[in-house]
Amino acid sequence: MHDINMLERRLASFLKPSSVLTDAPSLEFYGRDWIKDFKAAPSLVVLPESTEEVQQIVALCNELRLALVPSGGRTGLSGGATATKGEVVLSMERMRKILSLNRVDRTISCQAGVVLEKIQSEAAGAGLYFPVDFSTRGSAQIGGNLATNAGGIRVIRYGNIRDWVVGLTVVSGKGELLSLNGSLFKNNTGYDLRHLMLGSEGTLGVITEVTLRLTTPPKDIARILCGLASNDHILPLLAFCRDNLRDLSAFEFMERRALQEVLSHRGLRDPLSQQFAAYILIEVELNSPGSRDDLVAVFGEAYEKDLIKDVVVSESSAQAQELMSLRDLISETLSSHYTLHKNDISVPIPSIPAFLHDLHSLINETYPSMRVVVFGHVGDGNLHVNVLKAGDISDDEFWRGCHEADHKIFALVQKYSGSISAEHGVGLLKRDFLSYSRSEAEIEIMRGIKRAFDPLGIMNPGKIFA
Ligand SMILES: Cc1cc2nc3c(=O)[nH]c(=O)nc-3n(C[C@H](O)[C@H](O)[C@H](O)COP(=O)(O)OP(=O)(O)OC[C@H]3O[C@@H](n4cnc5c(N)ncnc54)[C@H](O)[C@@H]3O)c2cc1C
Repeated sequence: MHDINMLERRLASFLKPSSVLTDAPSLEFYGRDWIKDFKAAPSLVVLPESTEEVQQIVALCNELRLALVPSGGRTGLSGGATATKGEVVLSMERMRKILSLNRVDRTISCQAGVVLEKIQSEAAGAGLYFPVDFSTRGSAQIGGNLATNAGGIRVIRYGNIRDWVVGLTVVSGKGELLSLNGSLFKNNTGYDLRHLMLGSEGTLGVITEVTLRLTTPPKDIARILCGLASNDHILPLLAFCRDNLRDLSAFEFMERRALQEVLSHRGLRDPLSQQFAAYILIEVELNSPGSRDDLVAVFGEAYEKDLIKDVVVSESSAQAQELMSLRDLISETLSSHYTLHKNDISVPIPSIPAFLHDLHSLINETYPSMRVVVFGHVGDGNLHVNVLKAGDISDDEFWRGCHEADHKIFALVQKYSGSISAEHGVGLLKRDFLSYSRSEAEIEIMRGIKRAFDPLGIMNPGKIFA
């Protein structure tokens, strides 16, 4: 506490009074991310407005040996932006300036607190396109997206956010100002430190500014909802779509239960004629004349081949939006109606049906008070495994059961050579399970990298590894 008081006094020498918050509601608000598994307990929240201020804050925390938790839009699902042990929360929410947009090299530069949706709309305003997208676009910040190497619905066509980063400005845990790659498209001068920051979850330093690549927008898009007889039809449909659709940009999976929850809780109409075991929501870019007509023919053929049992193809952008909202609303709907434990795993794409089969058998046979509901970016092998409290058990029993079940689920993921975190990161939530996906040798190298960026270990301690 002594050092916190000292920090407050020293911060007051270069920050506005309104840039430091210590009241209980602010500590609670800024002290955690979207998941509720941990209790927020930061000692102070600081809201810098520039890279220089971030650098001064990091230098002070080094001097006073105080732990810092970088905080973006707090939509993270791994407890990465959670302060549970009196840390200082460094919120980026006042660093939301767009710095430049360049039509020649097709880049946008901005501060790290800009929300994803703002980048998409700035790009659109210039006739360009930033394709990374997911449902928290309105509140997740680009800095948080980079620190988690966010994926989303269009990875199948455009890759993860890593693929869109040209340069970064970073304040390392040591307090050094690093300009990583500037605005260069080619630069082979040794290790690319930029990529170490992507997915580093605030453990190496604070990303303060970024330059991103933009591209040409699709002329139009269509979305297609398919009903499938079983999970065994997912892979044949994916192969068929890859062979027949030139510009496939999303291939999203929903189990019946996931769709049903959205339809009943939101009072929506089922777009298909009857219920199916599995649903695939497809997005296709329509870039050439006649491509919409081709689309109808392609899905007619998929029906003839018995890959799908029913289909609806969007005929307007409003209908395309309605179909996507069925997928976008799943997380929010499940979270507001159930006690819920989330996992975000990936397995090699060809293993998906077998993995789903084993996962359901495991939960049904071992945990009768739990239900598992799966949806996700199946075109990338990424499944969001949601465990719901279903039986008459206490919350404590449920959370204990989830912890035990996690070991079994991750052993299954390991058996299929998968990853225990496909896109949400490790944070606090998956930290103790890291060895299911990473070898001891890899973890030791990661620790060495952390020591190089952050020798005193002040950056987000306890996240990724203990
Ligand atoms: C309903 C829902 C749907 C989602 N769908 C997806 C999806 O499809 N794909 C996907 O990838 N994710 C998804 N997420 C997860 C989440 O939105 C992403 O991880 C997002 O990128 C986090 O951004 P944020 O600004 O909220 O970061 P936060 O939650 O604030 O922080 C995440 C991590 O980044 C660190 N961090 C934040 N800002 C910085 C910075 N400037 N410098 C250094 N470190 C920093 C934090 O310390 C923390 O470890 C979803 C979440 C929800 C709730």
